[in-house]
Amino acid sequence: MTTDNTNAKASTSDAYSDFHLQYIAGEWQSGKDDSINTNTNPYNGDPIVEIKQATKDQLDEAYKAAVTAQAEWAQKTPAERAGLMYKMVEVLDQRQDEIIDWLVKESGSTRIKAMVEFSSARAITLESAGFPNRVHGEIRSSKIPGKENFVYREPIGVIAVISPWNFPFHLTQRSIAPALALGNAVVLKPASDTPITGGLLLAKIFEEAGLPKGLLNVVVGAGSEIGDAMVTHDAPRLVSFTGSTAVGKHIGELANSSDYIKKLALELGGNNPFVVLKDANIENAVKAAAFGKFLHQGQICIAINRIIVEDEIYDDFVEGFLAHVKTLKVGDPNHQDTAIGPIINDKQLKSLKDKIAKAEDEGAKMILSGEIKGQMVPPHIFIDVTSDMDLARNEVFGPLVGIIRAKDEDEALTIANDTMYGLSSSVFTTDMAKGLRFARGIKAGMTHINDITVNDESNAPFGGEKNSGIGRFNGEWVLEEFTTLHWVSVQHTPRDYPF
Ligand code: NAD
Repeated sequence: MTTDNTNAKASTSDAYSDFHLQYIAGEWQSGKDDSINTNTNPYNGDPIVEIKQATKDQLDEAYKAAVTAQAEWAQKTPAERAGLMYKMVEVLDQRQDEIIDWLVKESGSTRIKAMVEFSSARAITLESAGFPNRVHGEIRSSKIPGKENFVYREPIGVIAVISPWNFPFHLTQRSIAPALALGNAVVLKPASDTPITGGLLLAKIFEEAGLPKGLLNVVVGAGSEIGDAMVTHDAPRLVSFTGSTAVGKHIGELANSSDYIKKLALELGGNNPFVVLKDANIENAVKAAAFGKFLHQGQICIAINRIIVEDEIYDDFVEGFLAHVKTLKVGDPNHQDTAIGPIINDKQLKSLKDKIAKAEDEGAKMILSGEIKGQMVPPHIFIDVTSDMDLARNEVFGPLVGIIRAKDEDEALTIANDTMYGLSSSVFTTDMAKGLRFARGIKAGMTHINDITVNDESNAPFGGEKNSGIGRFNGEWVLEEFTTLHWVSVQHTPRDYPF
């Protein structure tokens, strides 16, 4: 993951406002539901904005607008659609500071994490600008004399996007930028904790870049009012969902039981192993483990969830890791040198407190902890963790980590694969042949040798196996995911039918 962005410029425009409104059919309008989304800063509890939530009727209006806008948008030339993406990149650069401030304020991102997120969102927007000219058809031979087969790659139509709160800006943009570039329209439901960075802010930027009305709709609503209707509505042909495995399964069932079945792109939870083999450079592994575990307080689907260390170097690794993690600054995410900021909400906080209690109950040895103040959870390290413990079995999504001892390379691989998930993974070794062999043995969508599990590149396939999801983002993989095929044949000469 890169953090550099040499094109960044200071913002020269007025800061965006009116984030209490919905963005439907190209208009900023008030939600019509009685319920209110109260958006607060997770670090200090300061109120940010109150958003009147959308009703099912407003969701329907959004879908209808998307259907109309998509028909026109699909007729635009590739250059016109690419142009919107290039313009978006310009606006992103002009408003980089404003976007980063929002990520700190709304999602509790440290400035380091916000920069990582901004860079990833910028990269996928730029990659998407190339998509309109990378859509290719095919001509296929035929078994029938006088026939020619053409295969056209077309937009899918309307895509429903549901995104999470942890990397809201990038994880939303990695769906909507390719979707729009490829001629689709989008109705987006951002997560309730991040309606601005996960949706409304992107709508403002796209609007400034010249987005046609109705092409992108951002509907902020309660899951209970519009959650299911997002998926069961007749308009979307594909549901692009990023979030937990439990909700992903529910959405999968809904998508297949509604009047019109839908394609699914599911990016779900992880339980990512970080394996340190006995010939690894321990110093490098320690630094990687700390960054890959504690970036964004560990609230990343591809964060390290389990550290697995070969017996011979276990004690040295633990000693180095403990010493390094003790130096990490916990506190105000707005400070440049803060490594660990706040947990997003009370529900997540409670789940972490429960996990700490359970780890101790199950016999894991806590070698680092600290006082939990408000939504600030200092790093917690547990050793003597075994594969049957909750800390190893389930996604943690917080700054807690368990370290597991493996007697040798084979056992390390067995432990790494002992999970229902298969998202990301890492292995540290100085022997590249061994590293590649080990990496290929891991049942996951992504494995990084001598690096953290947290990697996302706009031209490399991102996605998971097993309960971590279906489909891949980025590059030609998302291009295929967000388009469909149309076989058109031409019978040039009369065909000889049997009757
Ligand atoms: P979540 O599943 O609780 O929510 C995700 C989104 O789904 C939110 O917008 C939420 O409002 C919406 N939602 C909830 N119930 C719904 C329903 N019944 N119908 C329609 N929408 C509904 O997940 P979260 O807490 O926001 O995010 C954390 C989880 O997401 C973790 O498990 C993490 O691993 C996963 N995640 C995966 C990836 C990936 O790329 N694989 C990336 C980020 C997060």
